[in-house]
Amino acid sequence: MLIDSHAHLMFPQFSGDLDELLVRARAAGVGQIVNVGTNLETSRAAIAMAETHDTVFASAGFHPADSEKADASSLKKLPDLLARRRVVAVGETGLDFYRNYAPREMQERAFRVHIRLACEMGMPLIIHSRAAETRVLDILEAEGGSKVGGAMHCFGGNAAEARRAVDLNFHLGFGGIVTFKNSHALKVALGVPVERLILETDCPFLAPVPKRGKRNEPAYVRYVAECLARAGRGKFDSVCRQTTQNAQTLFGLPS
Ligand SMILES: [Zn+2]
Repeated sequence: MLIDSHAHLMFPQFSGDLDELLVRARAAGVGQIVNVGTNLETSRAAIAMAETHDTVFASAGFHPADSEKADASSLKKLPDLLARRRVVAVGETGLDFYRNYAPREMQERAFRVHIRLACEMGMPLIIHSRAAETRVLDILEAEGGSKVGGAMHCFGGNAAEARRAVDLNFHLGFGGIVTFKNSHALKVALGVPVERLILETDCPFLAPVPKRGKRNEPAYVRYVAECLARAGRGKFDSVCRQTTQNAQTLFGLPS
């Protein structure tokens, strides 16, 4: 079995064929999916989907791109969502200095609130970090994020940053990017300790080869596992087994 530890099934790209998509996921061996919220609306939609589909779980939080929506009154609504059955993580949250969707201070303020909330509620974090790895790790360290750990999703940092994330009790998530030609992320993924590696799609974005450029979906996480196995991460079956066990432990999913 495989787990897609990072999907956005409530995005409009999936409104036409969600049921067929879940059938395809099962057929590809993808038995559990973490459906990741990016603001209040999408978090609510992610939870609703998890409550009606037994292979789907949810998270709730504000993506750094949505930090402008993460004002005090919106953030106050998060604990109720996080307490819902089927919600397994806080996020996605973090920092994106590549696109600078929102002023850095605004992103950092929201990120810190998510970390504190995760610690209070004893839930793992799902972290988006782009061109901001050092700052993300500094803030996690300062706020005591290692108490709960979580997933550094679609990890794009270097080997030293990967080691630091592991030391801070984080798992590293890898998706379609490892299948791209001359992938730096693939080299980093091959060096991650076996008990800290998890797989994801980040669908509808970043479809792996041979679906690159198309809409991504959970079934394609299989291509990521195949790529890692081919590159020397171990036999395909053991990549599946280990990454599934890691995601289940991290998010407290039924095994
Ligand atoms: Zn995402």
